[in-house]
Amino acid sequence: MKISKSSFLAQQTYTDNEKDTAKAEKELERLVRKGRKQGDSVLIGAAYFYLGACRYDLGDWEGMYSYAYRAVAYLKDTNDYMMATRAYDLLGYAYEQQENYKMQLDTYKTTYNIIKKHRLGNIYYRTTLNNLASCYHHMGECGMAIKVQKECIDLHKKISVDDHTRTMMYSINLAEYYYDNDEPQKALEVLKDVEKLVEKTDYRPYVFDYYLKLAICAFKLNKPKDLAKYAKKALTYNEPGVYPHQIYDDLRKVSHFILEIGQMDIADRIAELMKAYADEKPGVIEQLIAYRTFAEYYAKKGDEKQALTCYEKLEILHEKYRNELNRVQLSSHIREEGTEAEIQKLRKKLSKTEELAFIDPLSKLLNRSALLRVASEFIDAAAKKKEKIGAIFIDIDFFKQCNDTYGHAKGDEIICYVARACKKEETQFIRFARYGGDELFGITRGLDDDAVLQIAKNICEKIRKADIPNIGNPNGQRVTLSVGIANVPITGRVDTIIEIANYADKALYYAKNTGKNRICVLEHGRKDENGKEAMFVTHLVE
Ligand code: GH3
Ligand code: MG
Repeated sequence: MKISKSSFLAQQTYTDNEKDTAKAEKELERLVRKGRKQGDSVLIGAAYFYLGACRYDLGDWEGMYSYAYRAVAYLKDTNDYMMATRAYDLLGYAYEQQENYKMQLDTYKTTYNIIKKHRLGNIYYRTTLNNLASCYHHMGECGMAIKVQKECIDLHKKISVDDHTRTMMYSINLAEYYYDNDEPQKALEVLKDVEKLVEKTDYRPYVFDYYLKLAICAFKLNKPKDLAKYAKKALTYNEPGVYPHQIYDDLRKVSHFILEIGQMDIADRIAELMKAYADEKPGVIEQLIAYRTFAEYYAKKGDEKQALTCYEKLEILHEKYRNELNRVQLSSHIREEGTEAEIQKLRKKLSKTEELAFIDPLSKLLNRSALLRVASEFIDAAAKKKEKIGAIFIDIDFFKQCNDTYGHAKGDEIICYVARACKKEETQFIRFARYGGDELFGITRGLDDDAVLQIAKNICEKIRKADIPNIGNPNGQRVTLSVGIANVPITGRVDTIIEIANYADKALYYAKNTGKNRICVLEHGRKDENGKEAMFVTHLVE
């Protein structure tokens, strides 16, 4: 599956300005405006997605959420499924930052369904499985997390056996789900299985985390020596400040266990690293992780004064964190409402331009391509409900003479007049189109034969009453119509509009050949005296 042109443009804009986020944002906002002007939902959605990516790069979760939400809203009804799944993924990540795991799970489930339905490929499927498992884990459903993560790893091994970095990441996650499910032995086995990949893993934070997780397993399996060994090993891989907070949270856990077994030399080193981390990361979550570690560390060391200062700081951080969460959730809500209104506006504009492309400019009825679209909708619905589809072919009699006698403009007026009479008959189940020249075509769904006939009668009577002169018409020197009708059940045997239109066309041909100014109905399935399949019933217009 290929990425669409509009998405590609947004992606290029983002990657071209990778080093200058402010410039990238400016350019992407320009694309949003361009998309609005052109009514291009994919361009708007893709630009919003990359604006969200810029916010991600800056660590601004609130901004990221806002853009991800907009991106999803614009992309979800387009057929750029790939871009849509990426937007959903970003939104899911934003929900994770808000600790809104229920919404995160719903979001990833949507991605999963899109990928399955449109067969976007195993790579996307794998990533989504990993995301889903992480959600289940957050929600405390470790059994489900394990099941889904195993599926993710199996698939990953099938499609990219040489991508060791990912194998490592997925295995680390699985190990965590196992020990959180009170199965530390299984967690250990998973980690041991990928030990040989340590040297092949490009991304060092995963190796750091790998040893931290081994240390956690060792503690849970009551192996203090292994705990100390793996903790020490992990510290050799640390590069302060560059790792995501999830990894530092594992370091906090390891510090807790190390303090329990009283290995103060290792605890000192972890405290040092945490200090560097806290100094570098001003975010509340990062500060919470660091101060939790410090508080326990000083308490264990008997430095009560320092420990108390840390606990006080923790109180303040907790309060700040709660407020931040509330604020993010509140402002998200306000943003969601704003976005909905904006999208409604755009939809209206789009449907207007779309309408224009499907309307015949003279008669203001649907044009031929719109007719095909409506017909296929009608036929699908009729097939489900075993309804009939009706076709009404209308042709103006001796129309050439109208043009010749009264001029082309008058001819146009007459077409419009007949079209208006047709339009009057339209309902949700009856639509009219201009088929071409002086031919109009009506399609109906779910109507019985009498109802379809009545529509034609109404139109003919209206024209008869209007008494529009056409001196070249021997039938009263006025404008008259010939109509052919077929109303057939959708059985699977007759299922295209062309076929149904052909029946109505036969009836119209019959009407023209038997004197015009009449309605002829094809009685489908009946045979005439010659054994021919179809027979026509004629209704004269009085
Ligand atoms: P019949 O009774 O058998 O239908 O004969 P007719 O004279 O109506 O002939 P026919 O339907 O074959 O020809 C339709 C004519 O309509 C031919 C063309 O000059 C004219 N026509 C086609 N499109 C337009 C249009 O947009 N405006 C006008 N004024 N005339 C049109
Ligand atoms: Mg005609």
